[in-house]
Amino acid sequence: MNDTDKAIELIRNAKKMVVFTGAGVSTNCGVPDFRGPNGLYATVGKRFNLPYPEAVFDIDYFRQNPLPFFQLSKEMFGEKIQPTIFHKYIAQVEAEGRLSILVTQNIDMLHTIAGNKKQIECHGTYSHATCTRCGKHYQLADIEETMSKGEIPYCSCGGVIKPDIVFFGENLPMEFYDIMQDPPEADLVLAAGTSLTVYPAAGFPLLYCKKKIPSILINMQNTQYDSYFDYVIHEDIDEFTKKVMKKS
Ligand SMILES: [Zn+2]
Repeated sequence: MNDTDKAIELIRNAKKMVVFTGAGVSTNCGVPDFRGPNGLYATVGKRFNLPYPEAVFDIDYFRQNPLPFFQLSKEMFGEKIQPTIFHKYIAQVEAEGRLSILVTQNIDMLHTIAGNKKQIECHGTYSHATCTRCGKHYQLADIEETMSKGEIPYCSCGGVIKPDIVFFGENLPMEFYDIMQDPPEADLVLAAGTSLTVYPAAGFPLLYCKKKIPSILINMQNTQYDSYFDYVIHEDIDEFTKKVMKKS
């Protein structure tokens, strides 16, 4: 068996899978990734006149100039994006009772749309939002129309309403720190579509690698942590998933 076949066997037989996902699992539905060759950071700086590309998700920059973030958000939600084969497969793994936990760095809500519930969105979500001045909570529906125009949503107090996604310079949700302290049991860890560069999130799958739990990394590009994983597959995530789902 080659490495791809061995990885497929492991995934099919896993009973307690830990899944960790990044932007690469959503590129096939038109959501740009961040650090790939055609990724967001390659273009966003120039388009929105940013001092550096990551400023679009930097909390200090947002406090001075929130507009680029909302212009970008409009593009990310411009069309109705749909889950991929991979998203649907991970929802199926949960439905079969074989998912220990899903941790995603993505803010596109595609795992939720696909049907996953045992999920930690470690970089937050657009599904709810908070006023940056008075702290009032909002639902996506309250600000969706304004955001769909690429405009800044304002609270009745005059403050900017910020979706509850985690910016650089902000803490991750408490539930993420809880699983870092006490990682859920696993017989396989699958990291997919992530360059493993954004910390502390990327440290989560590596916890399992260090404990010698069987591990698979699927990502188009090399990462600095390839050697931590038992199997590394540089292939389109959905093409790979089709092989996993194929009846043998
Ligand atoms: Zn307010």
